[in-house]
Amino acid sequence: MVNWARAYDWFFETDRVPELLERLERGDDAGTWAELAHRLVLEADLVSPAGFAALPQLVRLAAHSAEARILSGKILERAAGHHDCDDLLAQCADAIAEFRELLDQHLRSRPSDYLAAFRALLAVEEQYHWAAVLGDFTDDFYAVGCPHCAAEVTIAIGDHGRYSAIRDWHQGDVNRRPLRPAPVDGLSGIGRLMYDTALRDGKDALVDGVLHLFGGAQCPSCGSVFSVADEYASAHRPALR
Ligand SMILES: [Zn+2]
Repeated sequence: MVNWARAYDWFFETDRVPELLERLERGDDAGTWAELAHRLVLEADLVSPAGFAALPQLVRLAAHSAEARILSGKILERAAGHHDCDDLLAQCADAIAEFRELLDQHLRSRPSDYLAAFRALLAVEEQYHWAAVLGDFTDDFYAVGCPHCAAEVTIAIGDHGRYSAIRDWHQGDVNRRPLRPAPVDGLSGIGRLMYDTALRDGKDALVDGVLHLFGGAQCPSCGSVFSVADEYASAHRPALR
């Protein structure tokens, strides 16, 4: 049983979120979902205590509700930030395991909200930076620092090309170098999970994007080759609490 006494939301109220959840148990309603999201998560990487208290009930709703899946994913995406709610988060362990299973089943059905569910799965796997930024690889850019010369390198993975470049304010992406996709048998960890999941579900653009994201890039300034994913992840790792 959830103890709501300290589980205040962003309006410093503790009674409104349980009311909203009860309303959603009776049926989906866009206005109620909007108010709930507003009370539980802030765009600036923050989640209110009520977000963790609401998670088990949200996960139960997530089997039949896209809004519940997205909101649960956003709450978990923010679990790495500062929240002072480790005890509330610890109580969510079963709900998080249930959510992982539910998302996996959902992804297998190749739903129209595939990317949102894929990102929620990355949040469950505690890959917070990928959960927050991963796109569908039609027009994705990542800014990374070259680990050898500290040049700011733009990585493009999309329909317009897959390259590393120096972004020039006037001339666009200059000194382009083609990316070097990872060999499939060289993938491990989260890259492997992303690849295997997308391949299983027939998401060709995602498969190809993941291979490039976890592959190598040549720095246009110094010519050295580095791992795109490693550099991006180390620059965006959440600060330790
Ligand atoms: Zn360099």
